[in-house]
Amino acid sequence: MTEPLVVAIDGPAGSGKSSVSKEVARRLGFGYLDTGAAYRALAWHALEHGADTSDSTAVLEVAGDFDYDISLDPEDYWVRVGPTDVTAAIREQRVTDAVSGVARVAPVRRSVNALFRGLIAGSHRPGVVVEGRDITTVVAPDAPVRILLTAAPEVRAARRSAELDADDVARVAASLERRDSADSTVVDFLTAAPGVTVIDSTDLDFAQTVDAVLGVVRSLVETGVSDVR
Ligand code: C5P
Repeated sequence: MTEPLVVAIDGPAGSGKSSVSKEVARRLGFGYLDTGAAYRALAWHALEHGADTSDSTAVLEVAGDFDYDISLDPEDYWVRVGPTDVTAAIREQRVTDAVSGVARVAPVRRSVNALFRGLIAGSHRPGVVVEGRDITTVVAPDAPVRILLTAAPEVRAARRSAELDADDVARVAASLERRDSADSTVVDFLTAAPGVTVIDSTDLDFAQTVDAVLGVVRSLVETGVSDVR
């Protein structure tokens, strides 16, 4: 089987990346890979072991027996650590607060990146929409389609509050900002690398953002790489 076509999508928290990527994958009959889930699952695993996630050595110790699995089916999304389904647990605030500490450990990044490449290669799909922070630059820098999805900070905070059903938008905004600023010391997901198409979804609704991404996929793929309709 030939290598799946990779649609690489990066962006900050609350940019709509996950829901848009999942819908784009559905529409194209592609797989969907949420890379943030691996960092979240490792943070969950570290917390379960009582590890201090701000201590790289402690993170590396628990990473040794991290048994991770994720579904690439956009219709049936789940995340597991060993036998435990952690799909919901990795969205808890305590995990969100711990995740940046785990994500800044370089050997952790190298090993999850190898895992991502294996999952993509073994997806048995014509393509995979892969979303995260460093997909266009590190995980799949040669992907035929590379997109940076952005939105104004206040719009991202409002969207994330709606998602979490939280009424304190200011608190959500502060938490997003803290996480983005910790994460951006590790990877730059706020500026587009050369060759990466920027889609600013500030003034777009969900359907318009999905259409914008599909438009970029079709125009880039039409220029020669594969056959996506
Ligand atoms: O996308 P999501 O918000 O679920 O990502 C959770 C965390 O995982 C981010 O805050 C970041 O610390 C980390 N991450 C990363 N590189 C990626 C995807 C996520 O460092 N490609």
